[in-house]
Amino acid sequence: MQIFFPTEEEAETRVSVLPETVKKFTEIGIDIKVEAGIGKKLHLSDLLYRETGAEIVKDRKNFLSSSDIICRINKPPKEEIAFLKKEAIHISFLDPFNEIQLVQEFANFSVSSISMELIPRITRAQKMDALSSQANLGGYAAVIEASKYLRKSFPMMMTAAGTISPSRVFVIGVGVAGLQAIATAKRLGARVEAFDTRPVVEEQVKSLGARFVHIDIGNTEETDQGYAKELSKDQVRLQQEGMKKICSQADVVITTAQVFGRPAPRIVTEDMLSEMKPGSVVLDMAVSSGGNVEGSMVNETIERNGVTIIGLSNLPGEVAMDASLVYGSNLFNLIDEYWDPENKNFNFDLGDEILSGCVVTHLGKVVNKAIKDKI
Ligand code: NAD
Repeated sequence: MQIFFPTEEEAETRVSVLPETVKKFTEIGIDIKVEAGIGKKLHLSDLLYRETGAEIVKDRKNFLSSSDIICRINKPPKEEIAFLKKEAIHISFLDPFNEIQLVQEFANFSVSSISMELIPRITRAQKMDALSSQANLGGYAAVIEASKYLRKSFPMMMTAAGTISPSRVFVIGVGVAGLQAIATAKRLGARVEAFDTRPVVEEQVKSLGARFVHIDIGNTEETDQGYAKELSKDQVRLQQEGMKKICSQADVVITTAQVFGRPAPRIVTEDMLSEMKPGSVVLDMAVSSGGNVEGSMVNETIERNGVTIIGLSNLPGEVAMDASLVYGSNLFNLIDEYWDPENKNFNFDLGDEILSGCVVTHLGKVVNKAIKDKI
């Protein structure tokens, strides 16, 4: 069985596989081809990849056509799907709820596509969960990025010249990214507050030494996978009213709120921004899925009345070496789970709970229930 790792698009700083992950694949008997220059952005030479058992190839089209599995980080260019051989497996983030045409194209060319976003949240699949591995590093990078724009230090300092007060950080949305943002801001010495619509996270917030902000917005629900459900208009209004004062006192606001399969909720309004202190910083981690912050723009940093609004779409890419390591491990763990060493193939069983959750197309059809409902 042959797996091909093509290089990513120009803007991507992460790499789908590191040499140490290539080694894991070759050790279980899988033939690995990587496109020449794959590790260049991380200063990893082709030689390093060759030393761990990969073959370096230049003819991308040829290896897209001859490989059994193609692995990437980002969705493929649509025109490349036609090159893949029938029944090949394509594994990457796909943004399948918004990329229905791309999904349809996979089905048209009878390619089995696996969407890394759809790996189910069950214990057996934790080692493959790329949304979490990337969100965790994204949460860390969010605090570091915000600190670059803040003209204050994070910790309290008692010096001979006077006392410097700690920065106040408000984290909205306490999933994987939010928890890491809280932990990072705490480690830097900030005074941290956080809010989430799921009351179950209060204990986790407290265990990190931060304060959970209580806002009474009535009943909220979560899915069986632990994702938040969308709020009603009235609940959003109550939430915004409850947060206005906290935002106005904050030096840094980090928003991470997402609703699975839906656009991100709009939480921080123009009105709330206008009450914030000049010099404060807002980082919108949901900028690419609709944005939690009014006016935030993808990959732009803008200023409104002295408030800096950061909209970076690829925060894990700011710590690309670690993000590449854990993403490659997620891919390896997924493939290893279904690797049949005797027959040297990938056991494609749609009755399996993980595969039935993350396989989007198979044998010329869209087979994923959540995506089928969208079409
Ligand atoms: P996510 O990225 O979907 O959303 C981020 C956070 O935003 C969530 O905590 C959500 O409740 C919150 N949110 C949504 N609307 C909001 C609003 N209007 N205001 C404030 N916050 C809002 O979430 P996630 O990081 O994927 O995590 C969701 C849950 O799943 C977490 O509890 C996490 O610990 C859990 N999880 C479980 C597993 C597992 O394998 N069992 C794996 C990963 C995550």
